[in-house]
Amino acid sequence: MSKRPSPISATVDFEADGVQHGFLKLPISNDESAWGAVMIPVTVVKNGEGPSALLTGGNHGDEYEGITALMKLANTLKAEDVRGRVIIVPMMNMPAAQAGRRTSPMDGGNLNRSFPGNPDGSVTEKIADYFTRTLVPMVDVVLDLHSGGRTLDIVPFAAAHRLDDKEQQRRAMEGAKAFGAPTAMLMFELDAAKLFDTAVESQGKIFIATELGGGGTTTPESLAITERGVRNSLIHYGLIEGELALPEKPQAYLDMPDAACYVQSEHTGLLELTLAIGDAVQKGEVIARVYDMTRTGAEPVEYRAARDGVLIARRFPSQVNMGDTIAVIGVVVDSLD
Ligand SMILES: [Zn+2]
Repeated sequence: MSKRPSPISATVDFEADGVQHGFLKLPISNDESAWGAVMIPVTVVKNGEGPSALLTGGNHGDEYEGITALMKLANTLKAEDVRGRVIIVPMMNMPAAQAGRRTSPMDGGNLNRSFPGNPDGSVTEKIADYFTRTLVPMVDVVLDLHSGGRTLDIVPFAAAHRLDDKEQQRRAMEGAKAFGAPTAMLMFELDAAKLFDTAVESQGKIFIATELGGGGTTTPESLAITERGVRNSLIHYGLIEGELALPEKPQAYLDMPDAACYVQSEHTGLLELTLAIGDAVQKGEVIARVYDMTRTGAEPVEYRAARDGVLIARRFPSQVNMGDTIAVIGVVVDSLD
């Protein structure tokens, strides 16, 4: 059965040249607003024929690196500097972003676990559906800016996924390298089925995934890496002119071969990480201790690295619950071809 059209309407004309700032409007009806709408800001910058790119942040509402970088870009990108079309949505899950949360306070929805979405579903599922069926088909490439949010800190990287279509994977990996973060990654997802990434890749489009810091804030460094990467991506895919700005040190290449990269806690308590983000680690080395907070005098539980590698992500809060990811270890490789 074919799906009905999306209930979301745009106040911008995606085919018009120039710079337009507007909204994606999703009708809602609740106690605060009987005939209301979720208003998701969108900017379209178009100049004639050429490639089309979709730049997204706030897929998770507490990941401020992408949100901030895209708000700044939307305010500054000029039509005469663009060839083709750049669509900027700094806060895909607007209700989550306004609440400063990973998920939507309206329905509890985690947007990046809601794809391909449903026009008859929850608010979050309707947003996902609009991206899947309306925005993604308009573009050639999607750059989705994530970071660790409030509960994770992540080494800044751009990534491609392992795909059955090796040419599609190669083109995404070229883009991930050109993003110019300190690290480029071949990324393994714990559960890819309902990600935005998969919804884009399944349409044969190029998808660049990024993780660019975390802790629910930005730093001058993380924001600089994000802004530089966005600009590099626009240059790489032919939307603006300029020279790629690459990192000072040679880019590190990391692989995540399997789920064993993720170290998850089997205990609840006080977390001590013995490594900093980006540190090298040997197999068998203690990477974290978890202390029983209910008493003194108890030995902590130790967590050890299952492989040689680099600490690419860590839990940010010092309290940990069973099942939380404590650490992620990536494997250093010479190439990602
Ligand atoms: Zn995210």
